[in-house]
Amino acid sequence: MSENTTPLPDFTRWPSFPFEGDMRVKKLAPPVEVEPPRSGEDASDCVACGTPDDSYIWVSERWRVRAMDRPTGLPMVLILECRSHLDLGDLPNLLAAELGVMTVRLERAIRSLDGVARVHVNRWGDGSAHLHMWFLARPYGRLQLRGTFLSLWDDILPVVPESQWRENLALVAAWLADFGGQANAEPAHIAWESPATIDVPTGMDGDNDRRPSTLGDVEAAEA
Ligand SMILES: [Zn+2]
Repeated sequence: MSENTTPLPDFTRWPSFPFEGDMRVKKLAPPVEVEPPRSGEDASDCVACGTPDDSYIWVSERWRVRAMDRPTGLPMVLILECRSHLDLGDLPNLLAAELGVMTVRLERAIRSLDGVARVHVNRWGDGSAHLHMWFLARPYGRLQLRGTFLSLWDDILPVVPESQWRENLALVAAWLADFGGQANAEPAHIAWESPATIDVPTGMDGDNDRRPSTLGDVEAAEA
């Protein structure tokens, strides 16, 4: 196989690009003739359709909002779904209009949290067929996290403390419920133990044991 000499794009030199060192561009695989079905292409085996309301932090007649199953590196990552088994381009006008309202409402709710500067809204939909919009919160002051690499930084940063994460989920759910629907997330119960007894021990939580445990481990020293 020949050496790949494709020049690296400019974005690899942007401050927001999370990696440095020697890199090369991957070879582009040939296109497939027919793309494979996405997960849940058929409503009968759709994970979103089969997930009960109590797995969501807020639900209404036509919309639901869910969190990840554990705290994230970013202060908040949420997914907005319509209840109906539809993708973005399939939404009838009523749902399309409500999607706009819900997007603005959820953006405001997340941006109201302490320490959140901006909320990035994304829809990819290459993995699952059922419409799901991603809402990713960028921490205030972290200018290096601005822009398109935010979702990569989410997997790099140490996860936020679980109690703070639960508190924030409850705040967002309550904010949404002020306009209708039902909040399912409850504020974290006050833990009277010392923090050391609450933290998940290293190695117990899969993906997270590959992460740095504190911001100090990823942060440059103060100038
Ligand atoms: Zn579905």
